[in-house]
Amino acid sequence: MPNLSRNANFVREKVMAHNRYFEESIPLIASENVISPLQREMLNSDFNGRYAEGWVGHRYYQGNRFVDEVETRGMELARRLFGCSFADLRPISGTVANMAVLFGLTNPGDTIATPALADGAHISTAKFGAVGMRGVNTINYPFDTERMNIDIDGAIKMIREKKPKVSLFGMSLFLFPAPLKELSEAFIETGTTVWYDGAHVLGLIAGKKFQAPLSEGAHVMTASTHKTFPGPNHGIILANPRDEEMEKALKRGVFPGVTSSHHLHEMAALCIALDEMQKFGRRYASQIVKNSKALAQSLYDRGFGVLAADYGFTESHTLAVNVQNLGGGSSCAEALEKANIVVNKNMLPGDESSVHPSGLRLGTQEVTHLGMKEGEMSDIASFFERLLIRKENIGSVRADVIRFKRRFRKLKYCYGENYPAYKFEHFLR
Ligand SMILES: *Cc1c(COP(=O)(O)O)cnc(C)c1O
Repeated sequence: MPNLSRNANFVREKVMAHNRYFEESIPLIASENVISPLQREMLNSDFNGRYAEGWVGHRYYQGNRFVDEVETRGMELARRLFGCSFADLRPISGTVANMAVLFGLTNPGDTIATPALADGAHISTAKFGAVGMRGVNTINYPFDTERMNIDIDGAIKMIREKKPKVSLFGMSLFLFPAPLKELSEAFIETGTTVWYDGAHVLGLIAGKKFQAPLSEGAHVMTASTHKTFPGPNHGIILANPRDEEMEKALKRGVFPGVTSSHHLHEMAALCIALDEMQKFGRRYASQIVKNSKALAQSLYDRGFGVLAADYGFTESHTLAVNVQNLGGGSSCAEALEKANIVVNKNMLPGDESSVHPSGLRLGTQEVTHLGMKEGEMSDIASFFERLLIRKENIGSVRADVIRFKRRFRKLKYCYGENYPAYKFEHFLR
């Protein structure tokens, strides 16, 4: 091992400590995941740091011979997996994909219909996020808080009356499919462009669960590729463009609109992830949904205020729990963190503060990726009960969490199954 400076040692040791910390924790953040060993190889390749501006075959720099072959294959894989005519693998994150669509398909002064922030929308689609910064006006769909979904009759009425240029669906607290089919007449009547933000649920869509937005009337779907979709930190645009003009506008939105480098190492890892989902995606997605329903039921049975109880709690990877009576979202999330259970506080409909919201948001995609099944969901629910309801000593719950997690440190649903999920790769010895 060469002599490292104090700073280099510090960073390296903290990152290694982080890996061990997650190895010993139950990861339940609904927007996170771990990646397969083949994808890690791609992230470490010389694709990192290279440039391939422009579209495949029409690049601005030399040196892209193999990059172009990989990206072409990746776009084919994506079009086949999602059943659409257009795929762009260049957006470097979900937010950047959203910005590209905004640049490509809207002008300042246009109106976009979106879900409201407190009803589960993402910050990038809010007034003070990317949408607002584009100068686009937002109007919010009415929301049915019992069903935790857009109110269909209200949304039809709103789209007919306001005729938004774009109607955006998709959320960060995404329990049930967006009612695209139910709204399709209003879409056609008004000629609104239908945009689906599938950042959270892309892996479920790839695994043929949840819904198929591009067959249900959406013209364009943006997403992150690292949430339920178990790929690298990156973004993607998938579309059935109305015409060639719309396809060109989407491409222009990405480059030169909002990217220069498109992080080629991530793009290559994404290609592997697309192929892995083709092969393993259905089993993975279906176990995720089984697990979230099992976790919701088990928490509910133990007295937790899981939302949408009358509607089966969830159809996705996510469940929402009202913990106002147990001290609120922030204090519960902090108590869980001390016991090595990682979740986030979340606004629920009716909340006004994002700092002190009443809810917790839980996602089962990462624990599913590590091989957990329904039985383990009730083990997790019992940790929640011991900690938050019975107020058991945090240290003793934590010790049991660490013991429990020992059996779930290896990846499933990928090539090289059983590869250690949190392994730190040493390059220097
Ligand atoms: C997470 C998320 C995004 C974007 O996330 P990135 O971190 O930029 O990839 C966009 N939309 C929704 C609905 C999300 O949940």
